[in-house]
Amino acid sequence: MFVGHYGVALAIRAGVTRPRLGTLFLAVQGLDIVHASLLLAGLEHIRIVSDPTSRTIYDTFQLYDIPLSHSLVGALFWTAAAIFAARTKFAWKESLWIGIAVLSHFVLDIPMHPNDPRHPPDLHLAGSRTVGFGLGLWNHPKAAVATELCTFLAGAIWYAVARWPVRPRFWFLIGILSSFTILPLFLSANQTETTFAIQILTMTILIALWARWVDDGRQPPLSEKPQIR
Ligand SMILES: [Zn+2]
Repeated sequence: MFVGHYGVALAIRAGVTRPRLGTLFLAVQGLDIVHASLLLAGLEHIRIVSDPTSRTIYDTFQLYDIPLSHSLVGALFWTAAAIFAARTKFAWKESLWIGIAVLSHFVLDIPMHPNDPRHPPDLHLAGSRTVGFGLGLWNHPKAAVATELCTFLAGAIWYAVARWPVRPRFWFLIGILSSFTILPLFLSANQTETTFAIQILTMTILIALWARWVDDGRQPPLSEKPQIR
């Protein structure tokens, strides 16, 4: 899952004053940012296979060794790390929201990732040989895109209702990211681990900066609006 993760960030931001959207956008993609960094460091491995008979996204992108970033134990570790890192700048409650955002990534990846004889699981309890999770939605690309879009839009609508009126720049962000839900259908096999990792890092950081600009705090939530006496 990619765009769908942002739905969680939008839903959290609908109800809190801090952290703001840019931080939450980074947090929900935290595990993928860790994953891309570990790929570059040679500590996690994926295989990108250029094979014309590839039928699903797993045939092309085999995430066979990603337990440091994408296992339950790994996700809990990075969640704790994010909470403690956030504590240098945020209150406990705000830091816990950041932790929930980080952990939500693993939870939402489960429906998408593989778990069948042809495509062995890549999300595990701990190491690559421990029990695997995954409902394999990417075997059904249309259903996968629909799930991703619904998760994202549910968060966007929640945000818009809670923080109404929202500015046009918000709808522009939502429109562009909605169109990104079909990107995985066009993922190209003509890349290496390194270019794949750089793509993830660039996209997650640019989108977070964009979200920070969209939600720059100038528009207070309803509860903070000045009271008319
Ligand atoms: Zn992921």
